[in-house]
Amino acid sequence: MSAITTRELVEIDERRLLRRLDDLAQRGALPTGGIYRPLYSPAWSSAMDIVAVWMKEAGLLVKRDAVGNVWGRIEGSRGGRVIASGSHIDTVRGGGALDGALGVVAAVEAVSSLWQRFGRSTRILECVAICEEEGSRFDTNFWGARAIADRLEPGETERARDGDGATLGEAMRSVGLDPATASTAVRRDLDVFVELHIEQGPILEDHGPRLGVVTTIAGTAHLEVTVRGQPDHAGAMAMDRRRDAFLGASAMALAIADAALRMGHPAVATVGTIAVEPSQVNVVPGLARFTVDTRHPDPSRRSELITQIGDAAKKIASERGLSVEIKTLRDRPPVTLSPRVTDVLRRASVAAGVEPREMTSGAGHVRGCFSCRASVAARTVRRKRRRPKTSCWALACSRRLFASSRISRERLASRRDAPADAGLLASSHRRPAGERDAHRGHWAGDAARRRRGR
Ligand SMILES: [Zn+2]
Repeated sequence: MSAITTRELVEIDERRLLRRLDDLAQRGALPTGGIYRPLYSPAWSSAMDIVAVWMKEAGLLVKRDAVGNVWGRIEGSRGGRVIASGSHIDTVRGGGALDGALGVVAAVEAVSSLWQRFGRSTRILECVAICEEEGSRFDTNFWGARAIADRLEPGETERARDGDGATLGEAMRSVGLDPATASTAVRRDLDVFVELHIEQGPILEDHGPRLGVVTTIAGTAHLEVTVRGQPDHAGAMAMDRRRDAFLGASAMALAIADAALRMGHPAVATVGTIAVEPSQVNVVPGLARFTVDTRHPDPSRRSELITQIGDAAKKIASERGLSVEIKTLRDRPPVTLSPRVTDVLRRASVAAGVEPREMTSGAGHVRGCFSCRASVAARTVRRKRRRPKTSCWALACSRRLFASSRISRERLASRRDAPADAGLLASSHRRPAGERDAHRGHWAGDAARRRRGR
């Protein structure tokens, strides 16, 4: 094979990429709009099957692992550790057409295009559709990525249940997977993992540029707050004598949001669930239990926020004659992504004519789980822009990573090839205007859904 230079064009099949995004968006499409592809459901199976077909069509070596992640692989001539890219295939109810799907389709397109253009690489390249990230069905999340990263919890397949009471293990068996073998999905040979993901916050949308390179993933703590008061008759008990647990919890929820607001961006705190007891129309609630999700990329600031939340809850409880108990359900520290890989992504963006924004990701994403196993980085793309750009960024970064293993490092480091790269990327953006319109529905839906959820 002839030597590869960074000036060579690597075309992607843009129409195919867009067609595939539309194809995935049909699998689990809800009549009311949005998509629902819960883990191990028929819609999920259908999506995984079609991704495996695309990988086979491209001539990749396709493998479904023990939890259902689907991998497509090019065997590198020198072997060694793997460079991989992908994202999750599951969606929450009413999810957008690009959430997860973009990272999967772009990875398949990037690896396939490199394979078709250059044949065998020196390094092993893989693309992957991760089976679950979103907590889309069971009371667990990052199931697929945690399996790869050897971070499954003992007994999880029997403990985690969906809304109908089915266990994760039962759902696995329904799609031909054996829960007893889940731990064999672990991969100890990943060197680099890149995830392309749509932005789920407003920063790129409001301030630009079109691309972000994520350098840190915020740490997440989940708290459970139980407030105890006195259940009383809603008619007989005077207002000024009540110890209403729900009113106490409500005041705490406002104070918690205030604490995050006072700390300022990127601190966030969210009361996401609340339950009251005895939960009767004519009874003053004697107990209220709610959850708090709180995040900050700086570990000390995050601890400070958790302390402030606890102090505020205790103060309100004492003012209202209530008791409060705070339990930590989950505590995931912030993750710093590989500077080596984020630098490659940044340079690829610059070569394509975009100086990317360095970002902290508030959402966890697949890559957070891999941080202990591989050099991980991610690009976040602005969701408002038209989509064709995004495919090219994935290709660019994969190509750069591919290049780093195959092309001379001096050439990679040289910025003189930038205009040629930009030309390459621009060349693959073109698409007839009418076709663009045909896709608008899904993508507009992504933005609208995010706005509703903001
Ligand atoms: Zn996602």
